[in-house]
Amino acid sequence: MSTQRTTREWQAADAAHFLHPFTDFQALSRKGARVIERAENIYLWDTEGHKILDAMSGLWCVNVGYGQQALVDAATAQLKQLPFYNAFFQTATPPAIELAELLAEVTPPQFKHVFFSGSGSEGNDTVVRMVRRYWDLLGQPERQVIISRDNAYHGSTMAGASLGGMSGMHAQGGLPIPGIVHIGQPYRHENGKGLSRDEFGLVAARWLEEKILEVGPERVAAFIGEPIQGAGGVIIPPATYWPEVQRICDQYGILLVSDEVICGFGRTGRWFGCETMGTKPDLMTFAKGVTSGYIPLGGVMVGERVAKVLIEKGGEFAHGYTYSGHPVACAVALANIKLMRELKLVEHVRDDVGPYLASQFATLRDHPLVADAETCGLMGAILLAKDKATGTPFPESLEIGMVCRGHCFREGLIMRAVGDRMIIAPPLVITRAQIDEMMGLIRRCLDLTLADAKAGGWLS
Ligand SMILES: *Cc1c(COP(=O)(O)O)cnc(C)c1O
Repeated sequence: MSTQRTTREWQAADAAHFLHPFTDFQALSRKGARVIERAENIYLWDTEGHKILDAMSGLWCVNVGYGQQALVDAATAQLKQLPFYNAFFQTATPPAIELAELLAEVTPPQFKHVFFSGSGSEGNDTVVRMVRRYWDLLGQPERQVIISRDNAYHGSTMAGASLGGMSGMHAQGGLPIPGIVHIGQPYRHENGKGLSRDEFGLVAARWLEEKILEVGPERVAAFIGEPIQGAGGVIIPPATYWPEVQRICDQYGILLVSDEVICGFGRTGRWFGCETMGTKPDLMTFAKGVTSGYIPLGGVMVGERVAKVLIEKGGEFAHGYTYSGHPVACAVALANIKLMRELKLVEHVRDDVGPYLASQFATLRDHPLVADAETCGLMGAILLAKDKATGTPFPESLEIGMVCRGHCFREGLIMRAVGDRMIIAPPLVITRAQIDEMMGLIRRCLDLTLADAKAGGWLS
């Protein structure tokens, strides 16, 4: 490999040939990409030799941290033994079978079956196909409509982006596809002014019931949601929200789909976000943390209610991917889940670093720029505001989040900006001492942003 190249050379080749995802191509080629060259534990190094604390776990996925030899060994051994075989035409491979078995063990008891995909987006495409197939097989083909939420993120394929509620994505390419509708998100700073947390949770859940009645209950197939919206800005719903959503789904007999691509595999301090939120979903999308991002893999856990119909009434389900159950990806997932158990990572988040992060985030509320700071497990969000007492936001044109993110980049911290929310989701292996280090960096970046705001006269 030509690691001899200078950063400038990398950036020139990158700008010349590589169209990055979710990127303004011209802006990137003017600035030059930051080229990440290696990583260990929770730290990255770029081609300039800068050490960076990765408080986003890559892209919400490197839960066991970088450099875990057990995952490397599992991939290497499987690549030598059998690098690929498919699962079409009544064939299987040992790693895919073993992973299906292990997933049935670590997921909630209603899940005994899995359908594998290559990513979270593909998993959600499978959800759309499977949900509609389920109602077809039950003789209710008019049940087609899937209800989702504004500002949800369910991936970037046609179905994934349609399920998602990102207006910027819908504006490109004629989305959403037919049969997908959206309700408001349970974000109290935007939609719940004047209500208590718990009151707002019930109000937001009942938007689902209103939409079901508007569409017609006999036409609604399913509701899909992330337990905590990730890419939407780490929106942690009130505790009253999900139980009420569950009650409404039960009342109208519609399927509940939990998109666990971020919340799954320990992120919230339980194995799956639905366990933290108290729901019993019929389908569960996963990806990211299933392999800690070391290799792509996704899928859908299929609850017994749906599996029984697909299996017993089914015939052929005309759907699948070349890489459904890829043996190398499955071998890495097996090693990843076994390592999570060995290290007791879920307990580590639930009992130790999760509560510790919460206590540290609470101290950020004293900061002049911070209107709110909250966490769930190892996800956290800081809301920046012009006037913290009233929650008055900065004008959008100031892009206050991007200003803060710029400081993070320069100070050696990966923290993401979603509008005026600064968000983190560090690797689950993070220690208390590393949380202290991260909090030091976060405070420093908030102070630098505050200094900019003062100098620019942006504060009230
Ligand atoms: C990342 C993400 C997806 C899409 O996963 P990809 O592997 O990028 O296709 C879907 N849902 C949620 C909640 C995600 O965070």
